Amino acid sequence: MADTARVVKPTARLSLESHRMYVALDYVTLVGITAHIGFVPLFWWMGVPWLAGFNVLSVGAWVTARYVNRRGKLDLAVVLVKLEVAAHATIAVSLLGWDSGFHFYLWPLIPFAGLNDRISPKVVFIEVVALFILYSVLYWFTREIRFVGPSQDVTRAIPFMNVGVVFTAMGMLAVYFRLATATTERRLKLLASTDELTGLTNRRRMLEHIREELVRMKRSGKPAALVMADIDHFKQVNDRHGHQAGDVVLIGVSDELRERLRSQDFISRWGGEEFLFLLPETEVQGALVAAEKLRAAVGDSVIEFNGKELKVNMTFGVAPLDPAVGIDESISRADNALYEGKKAGRNRVTLWQPAPT
Ligand code: GH3
Ligand code: MG
Ligand code: MG
Repeated sequence: MADTARVVKPTARLSLESHRMYVALDYVTLVGITAHIGFVPLFWWMGVPWLAGFNVLSVGAWVTARYVNRRGKLDLAVVLVKLEVAAHATIAVSLLGWDSGFHFYLWPLIPFAGLNDRISPKVVFIEVVALFILYSVLYWFTREIRFVGPSQDVTRAIPFMNVGVVFTAMGMLAVYFRLATATTERRLKLLASTDELTGLTNRRRMLEHIREELVRMKRSGKPAALVMADIDHFKQVNDRHGHQAGDVVLIGVSDELRERLRSQDFISRWGGEEFLFLLPETEVQGALVAAEKLRAAVGDSVIEFNGKELKVNMTFGVAPLDPAVGIDESISRADNALYEGKKAGRNRVTLWQPAPT
């Protein structure tokens, strides 16, 4: 119990980007530990006990990297991984020759540095230059080294094994970052289109819905309706019971409205205690019926706050979404109908009427 708290806590405080790095490192180190444990008997069998011994140290480095990453020291873990990979590739190529293909392990260090948003692009550039120099030096000095393993086939198989491991690691890293980016984008999109208090669609996203609906209407010729609704005397709720009670009422009313609407309808928090609905494929007559249902449901519902039972009513204004006059005018018509309803005594549904000419 205490152990989990100790392990989880430092990472729970990480930013979104750092958390992504933490998870990536957790996977990378797992692959690293597994691969290096496999290398120990392999090198032994190949007759290079020096390398087998170095691999035992490597496993230690990878385990340490995984451990410090889990303790929240991401940067230290990253440095350990980079040093281990560079040292390992250098030693293996120096002993077994360039053709063994151990230099392939230097390649993933490029995306590993580039995708890490905890280091600056300048540092990434310096690392890439250092890698280039190391790669060139190794190429220059190790091309002539010929390693003869237990058999010709083994010697020939080694570079393929290395390519396989490197490809797998790079593929995993790429897919992981793609998934992580997609998740972040989804989360941001949702945040940008949702009202924080009520969870309803916000004004910005609602306007997009209306724009899309207008395009559909022009194609299908089917009608759509807008309903503007406002809580009656909402200021009194705040004044009498406090702002927090007001917030609770807003949440309660939103839940009620959301539950009562058809799934194809859109509902948004348009302003403070104002809501705008878009009812696709609906004539104003149908919208009047729907609004009346909502009005009755909100009026009947009781919202509890600190042991008190709060009740509110709402006034609704209905207007067609009319492609001929556009979005702004259509919304303003629903707003005018709402205003007429307020003037006429509130807690009612009013249909927009064109001014007599
Ligand atoms: P009417 O029946 O004419 O609509 O009267 P009203 O009191 O509802 O209207 P008014 O526009 O005078 O007051 C709206 C109030 O809504 C004032 C504002 O403080 C409150 N309000 C707006 N947004 C929020 C919010 O997010 N939380 C809370 N608690 N109150 C809010
Ligand atoms: Mg109001
Ligand atoms: Mg208002």
